[in-house]
Amino acid sequence: MASNLSEIGPASGKVHEGLKALFGLDREELRAVVEGLGLPKFRAVQLGDALYKQRVGRLAEVTTLPAEVRERLVAEGFEVGLPEIVQTAKSVDGTERYLMRMADGETVETVWMPGGDGGERGDGSEAAVEEEGEAGDPEDPAESVAKMGGSNYRDSSPAAQNDNSIFANRRNKAAFDDGYKRATICVSSQVGCAVNCQFCLTAKLGIRRNLTAGEIAGQVAAVLNRHHVRLGSGKGVETPSRINLVFMGMGEPFLNYDAFMKAMHLLRGMGIPESRMTVSTSGIEPSIRRFAQEPVRPKLALSLNASNDAIRREIMPITKKWDITGLLDALRTIPFGKREYVTFEYVLLGGVNDQPENAREVLRLLKGMKAKVNLIVWNPGPDIPYTQPKPEDVAVFHRMLVDGGIPTFTRRPRGRDIYAACGQLKRTVDEPGLVEIAPAGVSC
Ligand code: SAH
Ligand code: SF4
Repeated sequence: MASNLSEIGPASGKVHEGLKALFGLDREELRAVVEGLGLPKFRAVQLGDALYKQRVGRLAEVTTLPAEVRERLVAEGFEVGLPEIVQTAKSVDGTERYLMRMADGETVETVWMPGGDGGERGDGSEAAVEEEGEAGDPEDPAESVAKMGGSNYRDSSPAAQNDNSIFANRRNKAAFDDGYKRATICVSSQVGCAVNCQFCLTAKLGIRRNLTAGEIAGQVAAVLNRHHVRLGSGKGVETPSRINLVFMGMGEPFLNYDAFMKAMHLLRGMGIPESRMTVSTSGIEPSIRRFAQEPVRPKLALSLNASNDAIRREIMPITKKWDITGLLDALRTIPFGKREYVTFEYVLLGGVNDQPENAREVLRLLKGMKAKVNLIVWNPGPDIPYTQPKPEDVAVFHRMLVDGGIPTFTRRPRGRDIYAACGQLKRTVDEPGLVEIAPAGVSC
């Protein structure tokens, strides 16, 4: 498969080990920094606005601060410290995959999916509800595109709205046009993952370390800056973009809970409401219980992936620690809003969990829950001993869940040609030559 890898140069906001990153600090921490330098408190507000509203790449760009203050901060070792995009690959469907380098040289991958991720209709978010409403509009030409293409792709780009000629072209145009207004970013939460799901490429990496809140939110800032995305409804913002975030990249966010939650708050401060964020967990029961108590929560997805504990223990050994019953009990403690659902992700593995009896078991498990199901056709990876499900088995499974009353979506794979689809991302190295190295992946 063609992989269009290219280096992005020259990087702005270059990070280096030993710098004191300001991006990632909350208002109080910024206040402590400015007060530590003997500066007045309002400098912290200016700094916060520059970091999270203007998303500056370097302190030198913070024009609200006098030059001597900026120089002082730099002399003290401070910089913005956003992760640096060191490599990118672009798919024919518009999906872009980035290798992000952190200050210590560790790398994670982040994915940009213009037009949505093909699964967000099922993520239980308000975005999903809005999109369902829009999708039913018979006057909407984009709806015809979806029907013609046999996909649920909808194009809200300005380019598309001005072009009533060729539907097929419009789809392509949107995919490559930075003028669209809707996109989903898939964000990593750890370098590698400790959970060891047997079907997932990230598991092969093992865990290297947690990401900090700044590194988690910083991936989003770096991607938004790359696409010149404007957020919010403030003065001067004429076309706010609709950005959805899915924390479904490398790592288990609920094993890095505090940093994840802090990142979520920083991202809200950047103008992305929590209703447009979905965090996916493999099922860390104590974290789910904590999450249920949070006053501000993003949407939640649980990677169920099996219809009973025996299968789940095989494919997700973490089930030995926290079984399905305990996980569902923990989910029931969440005080759901009116339009809120838990999304259950279910990776279909050929002959393992994709048969009608599995669908029946899933229906029994989810009975009475405010649930949606995202079916994901397993993406193969090297040395992973599974097979893809047969298309007819996927169709039967999907139909059975729908008939059983569960809103179900089969996720459209994105970026397959660049290994950006679920579980397909390959780690890449940032050494001269930019050679792709073998399997160590990210799921998304
Ligand atoms: N660690 C978290 C979030 C990242 S994984 C979790 O497991 O939920 C995001 C999703 O990708 C999970 O639902 C996971 O089951 C799925 N996934 C992992 N590897 C996959 C693969 N090879 N093919 C399809 N989906 C995969
Ligand atoms: Fe980790 Fe999620 Fe992959 Fe499991 S599926 S190994 S939890 S990233």
